[in-house]
Amino acid sequence: MPDFDPVSYAIPAFVALVLIEMLWARWRSPQAYEPKDTLVSLLFGLGSTIAGLLLGGFALAVFIAAYEFRLFTIGWEWWAWPVCFVLDDLKYYWVHRFGHRSRWFWASHVNHHSSQHYNLSTALRQTWTGAFTLGFAFALPLVLLGFHPGMIAICGGFNLIYQFWIHTEAIDRMPRWFEAVMNTPSHHRVHHATNPRYLDRNYAGVFIVWDRMFGTFEPERPREEEPIRYGIVKQLGSFNLLWAVFHEWVGMLGDIWRAPWKHKLSYLLREPGWSHDGSRETSDMIRARWQEQQAHGTQEPVPPEGAPPAQKPIAGPRRAA
Ligand SMILES: [Zn+2]
Ligand SMILES: [Zn+2]
Repeated sequence: MPDFDPVSYAIPAFVALVLIEMLWARWRSPQAYEPKDTLVSLLFGLGSTIAGLLLGGFALAVFIAAYEFRLFTIGWEWWAWPVCFVLDDLKYYWVHRFGHRSRWFWASHVNHHSSQHYNLSTALRQTWTGAFTLGFAFALPLVLLGFHPGMIAICGGFNLIYQFWIHTEAIDRMPRWFEAVMNTPSHHRVHHATNPRYLDRNYAGVFIVWDRMFGTFEPERPREEEPIRYGIVKQLGSFNLLWAVFHEWVGMLGDIWRAPWKHKLSYLLREPGWSHDGSRETSDMIRARWQEQQAHGTQEPVPPEGAPPAQKPIAGPRRAA
């Protein structure tokens, strides 16, 4: 097993780029950085690295055990690297999509969306509880195909490194061909937005083509036309690190505890914001309500009698970004 983690080599570059972006922000966009928020982001990164050291070995042990049952032995052939990288990115798309569409995975992934700012330090907000959710099982098909667990881990590391630079407002658009194929700051700003139009869109890691293929792509509108509100629908409103890390686990366990027996599993597995009594909103419900408002606003200036007020606040309780 090669003892090589590309992410640890990239950390000095991450820190240097955060500092450069901070200087840029002082000059061009003073609201982009908020010291407390940046500190929480850095601690998120540190804690996630420690959690990875403690729990990552468990995932690797599962992969090594599963590798014994592989269908083919691909080995360390040169051509296996690009194939593994692309398939690992496809895996990332799906694990990330479940991260938003099933509360069990969202409880962990919400960590990454917990900041109301969008800058390079936001990229360091990585989950502490990822291995606990068993999300790594999404990579088992690759292991069973015969890709070496070490190769999959290294590809995953480079995938994470790629995703660092897209967390910025300093870059508006990349060249058209690049925007068409690759995940970019513009595409990923959409992913971090809570605007109803943008909810649960652009799950890509490296290649945006997966969102185009699977129907979850949304292009960014000009920001002066549609300013982005970053974060989660019900913002944390707190710089308490441990609350930011565990708040959704606490919320979910509380809901499961209080729910009638036949609904307990739904609170664990269904989409964030789902409730058995309809008292909350999922992202699909928020989007549908917004679309209805848009239709009223453009085609029917006066809502029909008895209709709910058109400008109902868009924030619903505890919802996904
Ligand atoms: Zn996400
Ligand atoms: Zn992100």
